[in-house]
Amino acid sequence: MFKTDFIIQDLYASLDKNNFIIQYQPQFTENHQITGIEALARWKDSKGNFISPDVFIPLLEENQLIYPFGLQVANKSFECAYTMLNHLKINYNKMAINVSPLQLDDQNFVDDLEYLRKHIGLETQGLTIEITESSKITSDHFDMIKEFNNLGYGISIDDFGTGYSSFQYIMNVPLTNLKLDRSFIQDIHLNKSQQSIVYAIINMCTQLKIPVIAEGVESIEEIQFLSKIGCKHFQGYYFSKPLNDNDLFEIAA
Ligand code: C2E
Ligand code: CA
Repeated sequence: MFKTDFIIQDLYASLDKNNFIIQYQPQFTENHQITGIEALARWKDSKGNFISPDVFIPLLEENQLIYPFGLQVANKSFECAYTMLNHLKINYNKMAINVSPLQLDDQNFVDDLEYLRKHIGLETQGLTIEITESSKITSDHFDMIKEFNNLGYGISIDDFGTGYSSFQYIMNVPLTNLKLDRSFIQDIHLNKSQQSIVYAIINMCTQLKIPVIAEGVESIEEIQFLSKIGCKHFQGYYFSKPLNDNDLFEIAA
């Protein structure tokens, strides 16, 4: 049996057992106020090794497993959001789940997510669908994104600047926020061309009234530069690494 066959069997087993782990990375203002949370999936294989999402997400996609996986992630993240809001009385603002365009291919996605949300007892206003930029986005996908938006979910574009359809999103969908890819943020205070690009994007978003979240901020120099040019929301190791739920509750309390 090939190595990848083992991994796929392992992924099937984890889906069967519903044992993917979710970590949560908060987003902050410069003054360390939490303005949102992103749910990030983690996978420990049968040998006990953590495998990067950059490895297992594409495998789930190639093997038509991303849909049931996405619902398991949503279910756990929604339960975490419910606990924060209703048991711990913590207002996290918005909980974002990552959604790949392949998940939007399934006509049942809105109904399935709505079923989970209602069953858990959350309002749509506290939830965001975070969509990775992709060349594979179609007009049907945009229709589904609009349907989520009409129901009250926030819509976020992920990894802005790295894909093919950035401006299509801006023109087609009312956006709750736009996440600037880490490649533009890393050492921005030292690099003039990065500065020009990010400055232009922030100016455009200011005109359009779309908040920008800088992803992957790791240093105070990056934050100071970004603040100076109008960026108000940050996510990255400087503020917090992705956390398990108990650590999240502690930091957010
Ligand atoms: P992403 O959505 O761009 O998520 C941000 C990634 O950057 C995460 O990697 C996060 O741990 C990492 N990160 C955050 N702050 C910093 C920082 O300051 N420095 C550095 N170097 N990295 C930082 P992660 O968790 O490995 O996730 C990788 C990708 O896997 C995500 O990229 C997302 O596209 C995908 N992914 C994760 N969970 C899910 C999921 O539930 N569904 C789907 N469809 N995709 C997911
Ligand atoms: Ca994301």
